[in-house]
Amino acid sequence: REATDINALVDEYLRLAYHGLRAKDKSFNAHLVTNFDSEAGIINVAPQDVGRVLLNLFNNAFYAVQERSVKEGATYKPTVSVRTQRLADAVAIVVSDNGSGVPDSVKEKIFQPFFTTKPTGQGTGLGLSLSYDIITKGHQGTLALETSGAAGTSFVVKLPA
Ligand code: ADP
Ligand code: MG
Repeated sequence: REATDINALVDEYLRLAYHGLRAKDKSFNAHLVTNFDSEAGIINVAPQDVGRVLLNLFNNAFYAVQERSVKEGATYKPTVSVRTQRLADAVAIVVSDNGSGVPDSVKEKIFQPFFTTKPTGQGTGLGLSLSYDIITKGHQGTLALETSGAAGTSFVVKLPA
């Protein structure tokens, strides 16, 4: 573990995820909204592991808005928002998208290894299960689906500070 500036880490991986997708698909586009709590501060984490979790969450969010934009066309504004917040004894990172949401029938399965709703070749179903282990076992934090519905989806990571 290393003393890590959480806002800087989130910012770095958000750009990495976004530019990585745009490099593969020039037509990919999404609005990025960030809201960093200046009190988020420096916490002790394994930065590459937390970075991996962030990449998984961002890639899922970008996939969800991309999928919805194919269905809805030009009136839809694909948006991925990331917010950090300093809590009493933790830092929260909230990743939100305005994609199609997670159906109720699927909600309890998303953290299971190999569970995916994506076509073959587009998803391994390992992103959230690996992320869950990194955050809970590796950092004694929490990772949860905060909300999901017609307005989109939010995941929240809490890391002890
Ligand atoms: P993968 O992305 O390879 O499918 P994940 O473990 O990352 O595997 O996610 C598992 C499933 O959870 C996805 O296939 C999808 O059904 C659902 N999911 C995850 N994130 C989102 C999201 N932001 N919006 C809608 N569904 C999501
Ligand atoms: Mg994924």
